[in-house]
Amino acid sequence: MDIVRTIADLRSHIARWRKSGARIGLVPTMGALHEGHLALVRAARAERDRVVASIFINPKQFAPNEDLASYPRREAADLAMLRAAGVAVVFMPEVAEVYPPGFATTVRVAGLTDCLCGAHRAGHFDGVATVVTKLLLQSLPDAAYFGEKDYQQLMVVRQLARDLDIPVRITGVPTVREADGLALSSRNAYLSPEERRVAPELARTLRRIAATLAAEPEAVARETARGIADLEEAGFAVEYLEIREAETLAPVTAAIAAPTRVFAAVHLGRTRLIDNMPVG
Ligand code: AMP
Repeated sequence: MDIVRTIADLRSHIARWRKSGARIGLVPTMGALHEGHLALVRAARAERDRVVASIFINPKQFAPNEDLASYPRREAADLAMLRAAGVAVVFMPEVAEVYPPGFATTVRVAGLTDCLCGAHRAGHFDGVATVVTKLLLQSLPDAAYFGEKDYQQLMVVRQLARDLDIPVRITGVPTVREADGLALSSRNAYLSPEERRVAPELARTLRRIAATLAAEPEAVARETARGIADLEEAGFAVEYLEIREAETLAPVTAAIAAPTRVFAAVHLGRTRLIDNMPVG
């Protein structure tokens, strides 16, 4: 496994593979890797000949009050996991390689980013869209792999690839969970033992709402209110809990008609957790 730190090196690896006809998959990450990230690598390995993983903690997607400085960094363990998972190249650029002095462009996806996390994390999706556009153009893979854990992000990336004619297939990978249902996340490392005991209630609540709505499609308002009350009762501070259409992220206010998901963001102590589940 090669480690490259410059865009020029990344491109020369990829050009060599392209000459030999290899198909390439890209897995963008911010490191502190876990089985969720490895599921993306496995999906890429199953479909492509060579897998590039990137590790880049993108400062542009953190607001000033967020956890950029304390975001977990575990480079040696990450590299061992990627090597064992069969990644061919890890792209680990410095911030100045991605955003050199004078960098002035922002990619903004309208509409999809107004709601859910976009409504609560100022500038977050602009940062995501900008860095993902750059990673896609730097590597020009056949496909790039993103987790459904960050479902809104997956939709934003699909939209930008379509709108900007970036010839890359965007593939979503189902959320990997702990045995008790908690979605794997690098930020789970922030949880105290007591918070870790409470955390799976988020997934349980979303699963219960999804099951209830599958049986009672008109119970959206009641289930939303009940879900928020249940989460608060369990000890979370609820940022949002919403039922939205899976394709457009439009709110479902009356009865469920199209494919729908339940979305939530909560705070547990100083940790922000997100999760989402399909209805039916
Ligand atoms: P991150 O390092 O948190 O930016 O995540 C990198 C990629 O891994 C994103 O596409 C995430 O959606 C995906 N990911 C993170 N956690 C999970 C999980 N539990 N299951 C599946 N994919 C995940």
